[in-house]
Order: sequence, then structure tokens, then C-alpha cells
Amino acid sequence: MTSDPLVERMRPFGTTIFTEMSALATRTGSINLGQGFPDTDGPAEMLAAAARALQEGANQYPPLPGIPALREAIAEHEQRFWALPRDPGCEVVVTAGATEAVAAAILSLCEPGDEVVTFEPYYDSYAASITLAGAVRRPVTLRPVASGRYGFDEAELRAAFGPRTRLVLLNSPHNPTGKVFTRSELGLIADLCRQHDTYAVTDEVYEHLVFTDAAEPHVPLAGLPGMRERTLRISSAGKTFSCTGWKVGWATGPERLVSALTRVKQFLTFVNAGPLQPAVAVALGLGDDYFTGFRDELQARRDHLTAGLAEAGFAVQPSDGTYFVTADIRPLGGTDGIEFCRELPERCGVVAVPTQVFYDDRAAGRHLIRFAFCKRESVIDEAAQRLAKLGRG
Ligand SMILES: *Cc1c(COP(=O)(O)O)cnc(C)c1O
Repeated sequence: MTSDPLVERMRPFGTTIFTEMSALATRTGSINLGQGFPDTDGPAEMLAAAARALQEGANQYPPLPGIPALREAIAEHEQRFWALPRDPGCEVVVTAGATEAVAAAILSLCEPGDEVVTFEPYYDSYAASITLAGAVRRPVTLRPVASGRYGFDEAELRAAFGPRTRLVLLNSPHNPTGKVFTRSELGLIADLCRQHDTYAVTDEVYEHLVFTDAAEPHVPLAGLPGMRERTLRISSAGKTFSCTGWKVGWATGPERLVSALTRVKQFLTFVNAGPLQPAVAVALGLGDDYFTGFRDELQARRDHLTAGLAEAGFAVQPSDGTYFVTADIRPLGGTDGIEFCRELPERCGVVAVPTQVFYDDRAAGRHLIRFAFCKRESVIDEAAQRLAKLGRG
């Protein structure tokens, strides 16, 4: 037997950059703006509902597609914010986070050799899930364009589609770039999906984190003409309600797609988070003030961190949404983000992550690093001050 028992196709996937950078943060006592998780709890009503459910015996297997109250809340939420009507009986499934929903979507729709068009830098689980399915990724590179925001080349996207294209995996608002895909970009993606008769899987975990000064509001791809019947829309409670450890996500879409996903999902986790499901139902029903208040808090933190980064001398790429902002290290004399991030804790006591690890075309992201601003205001302000010192020394 060979020494590494891991199946060959998974060997390129080592431990993630987050493991290395979080260990570095601990070792150096730095502020960790690497991994994107909040350092405060979500809404009190949601936490109380979870505690109640635990005490009151919601501790056995919930139904495979999720408890009815949560499926109804997901359907109502989708109608309320995005005007997408869903039947909670057959067009909604609860998953173990958005991560499982993405994995089950790909595993249920892709034959080995099928191609998945996605944008890089991509969320790290995408490449692994595509590989697990034996499918092939066809990344289209997002690059800073004239506006300072990230864009892509239309010809490159068109060329990524071919006879083996099975689906487009789209994350908007986008981690790590903070890009919100515009209506015209979505229109082009939708045209190509229809022309090539492909599915779309959309990861919208940051649907509520689009800032008031964003170039355009968030638009779900599923709402574009001809897209509803071919799109699985995925989201999760983790990012919207600051409970990333709960892993309560969902997928919505036409019955035949939700049913395909569910058939795979039943053999991955079957079900999860029984007592947390009623609590997420409560959270989804919170008033608009919760959603706008949370967005405004994050926006203020983005502004403080961005100011610190600019003072330090980074070329900051504008972030229109999500928990993240990216910065170009070249004005500070950096060339390689990995080296730069390894040295940053010693230089100023802050940890970031290099985004090149989220590209197939590493050269395209070599000079870019990502900071998370989903931390308490005092933490962000301290980090901004530490970073600003880079510009003075
Ligand atoms: C955090 C994140 C996820 C994972 O969501 P979970 O609900 O924790 O599984 C998926 N996609 C993107 C883009 C994310 O940032």
C-alpha cells in the first residue's frame, strides 16, 4: 500500500490556509482578521428559542427536509426579501450549513467529467466538492477593473461554457472580494445558462450584507427570466445571524432540483441541528430593523478597517458586501501574499489571509490579501490603528 491512504483526487487539498494563519495568530497574540466568524452572539430572541427547544425536548431526528416551521420561515423570508415564492412542502430543504447544500447540489447534479463554471477566487469548499464529485472546475477570474471593484472578462466567461458544462456555481455577494454581481453581469450569466441549458447553484449566504453605498443591490439569479426552474438558491443562518457554529443552511428551488439534492443529502448527514431549527425560524422572522441594523454595524466596521488599511498604504479594493475587504500589498513593497501574511503578525500584530490560495491561476491573486471585519468595533479599531502604523514605519 502507498503511504498516503487519502484518495488521489483529494491529495492536492492540504490543511487550509485558515489553520496556518489562526495558529500564527494564537502564537503571536495577534488580532485574527483571517477567519470570517463574528466575535459576538446573534439576536437574543434566536438564542432564547434555541435554549427553549433544547429544554423542551426537540432533541431527536427532525424530518429529512427540516422541521415545517423552519421550511415555512425560509419560504416566507424568500418571498419577503426577494419576491421568490416557494412551496415549503417541496421547494425547501434544510441542510448542515451552506457547505453541505453546495456539496449535495454538486454531487446530485454532476456526473464524473461534467464541468462546473465558477468564479475565482472561490470559496474553498467549492473546489473540493467539485473534485469529490469527479467533476471539473472551469474558473473565470475576477480581477480589479477600472472602477476599483472586481469584474470579469465577458469573453472568458463565454469560453468557459461548453458541451460538458453542467452548472454554474455563483457566489454573490462574493467572498473574498466583497463583490456584488451587477444586474448586467447576472443577465449575461443567465443568458449563458439558458443557451447551454445548464443549471445554476447560487451561494447567497451574504444576502443581507450589501452595504448602502454598494454599486448595485443584491439580485438573486433565480429571479431572472428563465432562471427559476434551473436554479438552486442556497443560504445559511451562520453569517446573517452570527451563529457560524450552528451550521443551519438551506436550499430552495424547483421541486425536481430540491428533491435531487435531498436524495444525496440524506446519505451525507440525513439531518442536523434539531433544536436549532426552531430558533432559526424565529430569527428569519425578525423585523427589518434587525437586518438593516446588522448591515449598518458591519458597514461601519468596514469603513474603519478600510481607513486603517488606506493609511497603512495598501491599495484597498472597495468592498460592497460580505464580511470581507481585500487589499493589494504592492504599494507596501509586497509581491507575494503568503509571505506578506506570514510576516504581518510580527510587523503589526494583525493576521490576514492571502487570497491566491483561492485561485487556480495563482498569479492573478498573488498580491491580494483578505481582512475580515466581522469583529467587535473595539477590535476593528485596534486592528486599524496597528495596521496604520505600517505606513509610518
Ligand atoms: C461561510 C460561507 C459558507 C459556509 O456556510 P455554512 O453555513 O457555515 O456552511 C458558504 N459559502 C460562503 C461564500 C461562505 O462565506
